[in-house]
Amino acid sequence: MADAKIFLSESEMPQAWYNIQPDLPAPLMPPLNPGTGEPIGPGDLAPLFPMELIMQEVSMERWIEIPDDVMRIYTRWRPSPLHRAFALEEELGTPARIYYKNESVSPAGSHKPNTAVAQAYYNKQEGVTRIATETGAGQWGSALSLAGALFDIEICVYMVRISYDQKPYRRLLMQTWGGECIPSPSDRTNVGRAILAEDPDSPGSLGIAISEALEDTVGREDTKYALGSVLNHVMLHQTINGLELKKQLAIAGEKPDMMIGCVGGGSNFAGFCFPFVKDKLDGQDIEIIATEPTACPTLTRAPYRYDFGDNAQMTPLLKMHTLGHKFVPPPIHAGGLRYHGDAPLGSLLVAQNVIKPRAFPQYVGFEAAVTWARSEGHLPAPETAHAIKAAIDEALKCKETGEEKCIVIAYSGHGHFDMASYDAYLTGNLIDYELPQEMIDEAMKSVPEVPEP
Ligand SMILES: *Cc1c(COP(=O)(O)O)cnc(C)c1O
Repeated sequence: MADAKIFLSESEMPQAWYNIQPDLPAPLMPPLNPGTGEPIGPGDLAPLFPMELIMQEVSMERWIEIPDDVMRIYTRWRPSPLHRAFALEEELGTPARIYYKNESVSPAGSHKPNTAVAQAYYNKQEGVTRIATETGAGQWGSALSLAGALFDIEICVYMVRISYDQKPYRRLLMQTWGGECIPSPSDRTNVGRAILAEDPDSPGSLGIAISEALEDTVGREDTKYALGSVLNHVMLHQTINGLELKKQLAIAGEKPDMMIGCVGGGSNFAGFCFPFVKDKLDGQDIEIIATEPTACPTLTRAPYRYDFGDNAQMTPLLKMHTLGHKFVPPPIHAGGLRYHGDAPLGSLLVAQNVIKPRAFPQYVGFEAAVTWARSEGHLPAPETAHAIKAAIDEALKCKETGEEKCIVIAYSGHGHFDMASYDAYLTGNLIDYELPQEMIDEAMKSVPEVPEP
């Protein structure tokens, strides 16, 4: 019988991250200065990020070596296991072979420490003593708090209000690792105060929290900013996962027919599939599917154009699929998927038809998550549930057609801190949100008209 888990040894771990930029099927449009409409340069980002990360952001080197200190921390949970989902296959009665690459084994319970550790390392190298950031569901805030503890850097996290209220244990995780966690919108910043004045009950959004963290950063000498997704260097750090996966699939004697992940800003999915995107562009037949919630349908319903990354228009303009930077998504439980935009790299690949997007309401996501938990045993994050739902659909199609496809799932995290959302599902209190086109049209009015360079 085939193995249920495929491990790599530490000595087999990839020693460099994969940068997809030189291999893209079309040029990546540069970030623009919103004032001048001109591409921004590395100097413009210097107040926010350490120079090494800025250089990675624009690098055209295909391979970027992983520093030894980062590698040593990675080995505390990496290489992460690749599992064969035998129990789910049996439960569904499918001839498909289903695998999942399990990023839930990190100390924070998701893929996010892969970049948090790298970012903290480069900040430390350049003498930074404090990092401000935002967090949606709390996964990123906890991952960065962990990294702050490991590199002795102070961490300040603006956490989207709705998640702060729904997920007190994520906040406690941050605090246990020594991070400071503030509900956003907050009264700490001009941006936060302005939003609270208009709507004291604002559930917050990632866009608002990013604005607050940016304002905090530029107001202090000792502080830099960190982003847990969207930017090129974040996608880069996550490729450790897809590179391991490649070796593990080779050991199993498999080539993927279908790769499925969930997309918030797109980092776990990028890390998982970018090393395979190269194979697809070189002619290999792989279907690469990005899943998202119907309540925040950036890849399936939003246009591909320049927009701000944050609510208060403090970031450069990024070319991406965007619902508009003023868009505040309905308060679904998959907090990590509530971002109005998407990574420019992933957006480009969707626009080029290399990656196919698919959206699901949260209810069917939880149905899939429970089917998974009752067969595989592991309890997925509500974000991850979107990928599982798509994989189950595909496996059931295989059952009809008799196709023996190899389906690989990006298992981005566990749901142990999301039990309140499971409670809502199990007690019949889970609300599905339809997003009327008028709401998208309204939010799109906030997107600036910019001539493309
Ligand atoms: C943050 C998060 C996501 C979404 O973020 P991406 O950058 O799109 O990966 C998905 N799954 C889990 C478990 C997360 O914590």
